[in-house]
Amino acid sequence: MNRFNKDFLDKLGDFNFDVLEKSKNSIYALSKDLKIIYFNPAWFKFADKNGFEKSAAHQTILGTSVLNSFGGIRLKLYFRNKYKKAIRTGKVWHHQYECSSKKKYRFFHQTAYPLPSKEGLLIVHTEMFKLPMDNMNRETFRAIEHRYFNAEGRILQCSNCRHTQRADNPEFWDWVPTWVKKLPANHKLTICPTCEHLYND
Ligand SMILES: [Zn+2]
Repeated sequence: MNRFNKDFLDKLGDFNFDVLEKSKNSIYALSKDLKIIYFNPAWFKFADKNGFEKSAAHQTILGTSVLNSFGGIRLKLYFRNKYKKAIRTGKVWHHQYECSSKKKYRFFHQTAYPLPSKEGLLIVHTEMFKLPMDNMNRETFRAIEHRYFNAEGRILQCSNCRHTQRADNPEFWDWVPTWVKKLPANHKLTICPTCEHLYND
């Protein structure tokens, strides 16, 4: 199965194809008319793991409109407008959404990076972590500390996309809404591997 169209590489500009291919995040790209022009290898794992219907995963094939994957006209219009706006303005768009299975609640985040010359979008999916601030006890605090605080007791956040690095699994960068609104005192800003390509000289 092909994972990208021939002209996809021309549209990438300064984005680093290797970074996209090796990323643990599920990533796909859209042309300016919102057709799917690329999937990275992690996309298939993500689709499997998160219980996408087999048929749905196979319907989303190269060259088809990404809007087919959204159920209902309201959702289609919503994404159409937001994606078109990101392409038109060149501004990164953040969107958080729920994708729960029968077993557990899960939240995800998608970041839409505009491709150069208004040629389309790169959509990067990450996991979202909601800090349980209302009922913080020692146990939940330890879990958060273990997941995000590094050996120096700091959290690392990307100053470009605002994702926070996991300390226990540094290849993963999560969207943590509480820390996007306000960073804790013991933070350090950095650039994540996905964003690094934006600053290629
Ligand atoms: Zn970043």
